[in-house]
Amino acid sequence: MQLFDVYSLFDVTPVKASGCTIWDDKGQEYLDLYGGHAVISVGHSHPHYVQALKDQLDKIGFYSNSVRNPLQEELAARLGEISGYPDYSLFLDNSGAESNENALKLASFHTGKDRVIAFRKSFHGRTSGAVAVTDNPGIVSPFNAVHKVSYCDLNDTQGVEKVLEGGDVAGVIIEAIQGCGGINIPRPGFLAELRALCDKYGACLIMDEVQCGYGRSGKFFAHQWDGVSADIVTLGKGIANGFPCGGILISPKFKASKGLLGTTFGGNYLAMAAALAVLDIIEDEGLVQNALEVGEYLKASIPASPLIKEVRGRGLMIGIEFNVPVAPIRSQLLYEKHIFTGVAGKNMIRLLAPLVLTKAQADTFIQAFKEVLK
Ligand code: PMP
Repeated sequence: MQLFDVYSLFDVTPVKASGCTIWDDKGQEYLDLYGGHAVISVGHSHPHYVQALKDQLDKIGFYSNSVRNPLQEELAARLGEISGYPDYSLFLDNSGAESNENALKLASFHTGKDRVIAFRKSFHGRTSGAVAVTDNPGIVSPFNAVHKVSYCDLNDTQGVEKVLEGGDVAGVIIEAIQGCGGINIPRPGFLAELRALCDKYGACLIMDEVQCGYGRSGKFFAHQWDGVSADIVTLGKGIANGFPCGGILISPKFKASKGLLGTTFGGNYLAMAAALAVLDIIEDEGLVQNALEVGEYLKASIPASPLIKEVRGRGLMIGIEFNVPVAPIRSQLLYEKHIFTGVAGKNMIRLLAPLVLTKAQADTFIQAFKEVLK
């Protein structure tokens, strides 16, 4: 059997990693400023994380959600505290897209309505519901027509209100910082205006924090830069540092009932051990603060260049927008300078380093980047 050929692959085979460093099968060392799409939060193979997974596997690896799992309860309590949502509930699933699916369904159950407002350039995942609220060229689904989605421009409060006036909107879903769409930060006040509109029209405000959340922006959640709260916050990526895990934080206004949501693997022991170890490390090592400090340092160190149009982002979520396609620059960074970076669209280099990045590692990137820009 062969692999179904859907991914564009770089000719690199990682076999080992530690912190922000990766080694390939030929022993070549790389600096990781991408974290495998923002997944590596506390660094590759952190010793505390590795030990926690090994210890858990020695005890019990899996059982279904038909028995009590104290690790889920511990994660809920600790996540409530660290995220500033202590009175919310936690539902655990396995990925970012699944978290968004659950959020959309919950919003619809709660309101009895079925339209969703999403934003241009958004990305919410590849399952049929999540992809229907995604606006990204090249990411399509034959099932979009079965979902009622209205796309609005980011920052267009009037446009959103016009759709809400139709009276059939269950929820508004938004990334507090758009990731795949090009590191777009809503203008100050826009999220608060959305909050007020959702309250006025009885719609649910869903914050997709899959990419921008979990400390990456320099606050635990990126929407907290705007001082607003969501009805549902969706999680994935960094929550368990690469062990598949997702979840949603749910406002007390939603009523749970048996069977309303469910999943076989969600909240399993190994995922919970991984997620708890991630919170230990985020707290012990002050990683939210580190993301802010090193991220701002890195952003400020990016040199001016006639090739660069704009640098934007928060914390360790940084986009460098060029006037030209970046594919050759990214290849040069990888193959000549041995640095992993990401892209958004054709013209943006996207940096999503592990939250443990040091200023010295940021300097290494800046030096290499300057040489590539020459
Ligand atoms: N939401 C956002 C903002 C994302 O960036 C992504 C993944 N890039 C997803 C949802 C989907 O997550 P997953 O790939 O884990 O399903």
